[in-house]
Amino acid sequence: VGVLLDPLKRFDNFIRLWQEGYTGFVRAMELLEEQPDIADRPQAQPLGSVTGAIGFDNVGFRYEAGEPKVLERVTLSIRPGEFVALVGPSGVGKSTLCSLIPRFYDVDAGKVTLDGRDVRNATLATLRRHVGVVQQDVYLFSGTVAENLRYGRAGASMDEIVAAAKAANAHDFILALPQGYDTDIGQRGVKLSGGQKQRLTIARAFLKNPSVLIFDEATSALDNESERAIQQSLLSLAKGRTTLVIAHRLSTIRHADRILVLTRDGIVEEGTHDALMAMGGTYAGLHAMQGRI
Ligand code: ADP
Ligand code: MG
Repeated sequence: VGVLLDPLKRFDNFIRLWQEGYTGFVRAMELLEEQPDIADRPQAQPLGSVTGAIGFDNVGFRYEAGEPKVLERVTLSIRPGEFVALVGPSGVGKSTLCSLIPRFYDVDAGKVTLDGRDVRNATLATLRRHVGVVQQDVYLFSGTVAENLRYGRAGASMDEIVAAAKAANAHDFILALPQGYDTDIGQRGVKLSGGQKQRLTIARAFLKNPSVLIFDEATSALDNESERAIQQSLLSLAKGRTTLVIAHRLSTIRHADRILVLTRDGIVEEGTHDALMAMGGTYAGLHAMQGRI
């Protein structure tokens, strides 16, 4: 899929994918979300292996023409393997900034690069294979646990699925479900907590094994046990790849190599937790105000 020209064609594809069953269903849902203007450029090149260096070069972005810019002249560079936390008030554009890396949207000014190459010059399929996104809105579909996990990588073996679930601290609660990995999560009576759902999406990301990981941390209160399990699995998932976390929890921020503080004025501060606290600026203020961010 990828290059879809007109709405009718999109609808045709939607119906076809719908008929293909659950994997088709997932693609169909993605299709509905896809921005019609995001497509492969005629000269797009597949990305080969990627070390995971990310660059924002004077990036400007707005959702609708005529609306104020959400991001303006954002410049940023993230080293391969770096663990970066993004913090700041709600609505300043943290999720938007991250969504420009896998090209859920395209910049209006400047450019976003992966390993120094403009992401708009890569094919969408290979770009998105390298960029894993674990979002706040956990996206599970009706189907078994195993099917939901296999969405991370079609064709993954059962052994691989179990290994990913273990790495995500999900294996034990999955085994406790009525039919284990074969439990239909859409079924009545099967209730997963927010923390359990998030661990399933982390397991998917382990299966996908991307060079760049974007994690939009859940804001909703998780119980302590879930929170600790998610923290552990995130840290192991982050190993060996570039990780950008939109962080709400103090525990995540403490582990970051670098914290970026985004406000309506752009990135106003950056540094480690200790450095930013010592600076006594916006970050320290957010911290004092909320106790946790
Ligand atoms: P944050 O993640 O920092 O809370 P967002 O990136 O979600 O902020 O949103 C930044 C701004 O863009 C907000 O004003 C929000 O209302 C707006 N916005 C976010 N998503 C969309 C969208 N899909 N269409 C239009 N406006 C949006
Ligand atoms: Mg957000």
